[in-house]
Amino acid sequence: MSKKRVIISACLLGELCRYDGATKRVGSVVEAFREYEIVPFCPEAPLFGTPRERISVVELGGEERIVTDVTQKDVTELLQREIETFLQKCGGVDAIVLKSKSPSCGYKTTPVLNEKREILRYGSGIAAKIFQKQFREIKIVDETTFF
Ligand code: SF4
Repeated sequence: MSKKRVIISACLLGELCRYDGATKRVGSVVEAFREYEIVPFCPEAPLFGTPRERISVVELGGEERIVTDVTQKDVTELLQREIETFLQKCGGVDAIVLKSKSPSCGYKTTPVLNEKREILRYGSGIAAKIFQKQFREIKIVDETTFF
């Protein structure tokens, strides 16, 4: 019988793919899915390299966009394409564990900023939103579920 499959944010698995070149490995996540086929996911590192400029979710004209913190470049479409390409290759999965607070991966925990970079509310990163639509039957969780 084939194994169940889980998408996990690559930084939670120990990959050095964070914007600052660090990881956020969470051993209890890896342990919880040791019987699963793990599908690592990181949309930012392949696009922008590591280390890279930090990005944030910023509300612009009533829309949530992904913008680089210093150079103010809107990278929303780039990320969207990267995530859609991942989904085309990914196939079906049984579970999804994403990194909290990230502008890409955060699920209901990501700061949404205004143009002055003040926090308006907490929402989801671009990948979490796309996954939510694509995998309607799966409950997305983050690493805090496993602490
Ligand atoms: S939070 Fe997501 S985008 Fe950011 S480093 Fe981890 S896997 Fe990559």
